[in-house]
Amino acid sequence: MMLIGISTSVKLVEQELWQREEKGLIGILPVRDSAEAASTPSPGVQTSKNQEETSDSHKLNGKNQPEVIHWHNRGVAARALHLSRGVEKPSGRVTYIVVLEGLCRFSVQELTTRGTYYTARIIPLDMTKSDMDQVEQDPEFVMLSRQFKAMAMELISVLEQKQKTGGRTKVLLETVPVHKLADIFVASFEISFEEQLSMLDSVDLKVRLLKATELVDRHLQSIRVAEKITQKVEGQLSKSQKEFLLRQQMRAIKEELGDNDDEDDDVATLERKMKAAGMPPNIWKHAQRELRRLKKMQPQQPGYNSSHVYLDLLADLPWQKASEEHELDLKAAKDHLDSDHYGLVKIKHRIIEYLAVRKLKPDARGPVLCFVGPPGVGKTSLASSIATALGRKFVRISLGGVKDEADIRGHRRTYIGSMPGRLIDGLKRVGVCNPVMLLDEIDKTGSDVRGDPASALLEVLDPEQNKTFNDHYLNVPYDLSKVIFVATANRVQPVPPPLLDRMEVIELPGYTPEEKLNIAMRHLIPRVLDQHGLNFDFLQIPEAMVKLVIQRYTREAGVRNLERNLAAIARAAAVRVAEREHAIPLSKDVQQIASPLLESRLADGADVEMEIIPMGVNNHDISQALRITSPLVVDEAMLEKVLGPPRYDDRETADRIATPGISVGLVWTAFGGEVQFVEATAMVGKGDLHLTGQLGDVIKESAQIAMTWVRARATQLKLATAEETNLLEGRDIHIHFPAGAIPKDGPSAGVTLVTALVSLFSQRKVRTDTAMTGEMTLRGSVLPVGGIKDKVLAAHQYGIKRVILPERNLKDLAEVPSAVLSSLEILLAKQMEDVLEQAFEGGCPWRQHSKL
Ligand code: ADP
Repeated sequence: MMLIGISTSVKLVEQELWQREEKGLIGILPVRDSAEAASTPSPGVQTSKNQEETSDSHKLNGKNQPEVIHWHNRGVAARALHLSRGVEKPSGRVTYIVVLEGLCRFSVQELTTRGTYYTARIIPLDMTKSDMDQVEQDPEFVMLSRQFKAMAMELISVLEQKQKTGGRTKVLLETVPVHKLADIFVASFEISFEEQLSMLDSVDLKVRLLKATELVDRHLQSIRVAEKITQKVEGQLSKSQKEFLLRQQMRAIKEELGDNDDEDDDVATLERKMKAAGMPPNIWKHAQRELRRLKKMQPQQPGYNSSHVYLDLLADLPWQKASEEHELDLKAAKDHLDSDHYGLVKIKHRIIEYLAVRKLKPDARGPVLCFVGPPGVGKTSLASSIATALGRKFVRISLGGVKDEADIRGHRRTYIGSMPGRLIDGLKRVGVCNPVMLLDEIDKTGSDVRGDPASALLEVLDPEQNKTFNDHYLNVPYDLSKVIFVATANRVQPVPPPLLDRMEVIELPGYTPEEKLNIAMRHLIPRVLDQHGLNFDFLQIPEAMVKLVIQRYTREAGVRNLERNLAAIARAAAVRVAEREHAIPLSKDVQQIASPLLESRLADGADVEMEIIPMGVNNHDISQALRITSPLVVDEAMLEKVLGPPRYDDRETADRIATPGISVGLVWTAFGGEVQFVEATAMVGKGDLHLTGQLGDVIKESAQIAMTWVRARATQLKLATAEETNLLEGRDIHIHFPAGAIPKDGPSAGVTLVTALVSLFSQRKVRTDTAMTGEMTLRGSVLPVGGIKDKVLAAHQYGIKRVILPERNLKDLAEVPSAVLSSLEILLAKQMEDVLEQAFEGGCPWRQHSKL
């Protein structure tokens, strides 16, 4: 096939081929020196009659200036088989596509022009039939042609592998004469122009065959090299795939052989673990699907690890594994509770009730117990005792600071670094499906944009819903109904009401100093000594010293700091004991006793009891060295050395109320009751009220109310003369609540604020031994407040002797231990004046004069 575009050649095609019925022959001559012409040999027309050949030897440019073209002197005569005309360009140029059949080689004798194209006189170069017959006898030719055919055959098979040609090319080999084959084959692939010319010039058949063999061989080689390169590239790409395949095969072989030595094959281990996990059928199906996915993956593939971790979790979760519940012995449970916890009689009684109900109806959906109280009062330890009594495992889940629902429910696996929620994680840790699960600090959960953990907890605690608890990470339902939930909280208020509704609140108040002493002596000290590898032979902490620790170093509702301080003492003692051990190196002073009798008895393997008497050491040193006789007894000096100077003392209140304008309030915090001072002072100003001490809105309003109340009664209270009724005339009042860094709020400081202001304006000091609490209305009624028990305990602890409480809080005193009550004078107030009456030495002197 040839594209004819040069103008002279186009003319030739038009006149000799296009316009004629009977298509003639044309001559094709390569052009040697023009790059454009060289790549497309120019055609010429040859008339068979006069053996003349036409060809265009000059390219005619736009100005009809002939341009010299160097024709090659050999060419090919060809017959046009098919002719098609391209679309005429706007410039008027036309192109033709001619399909030609080469007939024979010729050499050019003379080249002339005929009108617009060229003709040439030629001599045909191909051999005659008889010449051919002769050559075919030539053994060298025979060999060459065999060689060529073999090479051609090879090329055909290589090409056929790539492209199915249906064996048509092979037929060519049988039917076409070999010298033609050489031409056909060489024309079928790309060779250089020079090589094309040299093939054209090879008139001699042997030379032609040799060249063709060479070219076919070269082409074959280049195909093979190209193939090798592709194979190599492909090979590298699929190396990991190959590895995977081999691994699969290895696994199959091992399985076939029953070879169990595949401990290192972690997928197999995982599968075994999964089978042993006892998953419910629907979850097992889901897990298997995931396992199949994992098996198809390669370890380096993204997603492999997360899939593995997920299946690990599925396999580790206790789907069926449960602690065996033994017959509940209530007596033993009671003894256990008693032996672990001092006091807490009512609470222990309630726990026994709870256990009794469980005993009678094991799957009764009893309420969820929620222990509420300040830190260190034994909430966690009671919950763990419940677990022991029931013979179940115990797991604690901290909910403090949980704001994200995903902390409870887990993140979906689509997130990077997703994890199961705390509940599922807890169950994995504990490894049984029926543990006692402590939801610690349930009041410390909050909600924000990331969802509401409380609503997830609602589902957890709801017996109807928790059968199919849905953790986002796990993505299959988990049955939580066998878990016994117990919750703890410091305060009830922050717990959302629907959640509170599911729970039975059991309040644990703080301990009195006497209770703390007993807890310390009976429980904390033995435990602390044991934890430090000591016993009473090494260290003794007398009761008096424990009392001092309670009074001077801890002012808390629970016993956690007390335990910490005792641990500090034990640590210090441990160091001393350890030092003593090294005081006298025994080995130097003890002489070895060697006797034949001893040796023989030792050899018999009998137990030998003997006393070793060190020589040259005085008796005092011996007792020290053997550290049996004198235990370390803690004294006040040691307390100060280990715990530092006392942090609290009883003189504090007296010192702080040294001036008028200060009163002592009782407040309630998450850590139990607290003593809260209120300081008020006056200065030159414009009658403003300044409030400091991180106060909330409610407490600020209480201060306003207090100020208003005092100002309204200034004359009756004899705080101002009849003439100057405005207490704020020319002055500002500043009220401060130390400690300034702790946020405070609530209405219960009402009475304390008024007392401080009255003290300030009257310049009379408040009694140092009196503390108070109560909300005040604008008209001066004293309203009841919460947390009375903790507040009274705090006052007692602070060394306060008199406590003023709202009258309506009288009922709450029933909860206060009698030992504490008997050491305090409780004064009840209905009106603000009652408070003032009690707060000042000698009563409120203005009352008789007032008309109230
Ligand atoms: P909470 O959970 O209320 O913060 P814990 O249960 O952790 O407190 O108690 C703190 C420590 O005090 C524990 O070692 C606990 O055994 C001990 N403890 C608390 N109350 C008592 C008690 N009544 N009898 C014996 N030990 C107690």
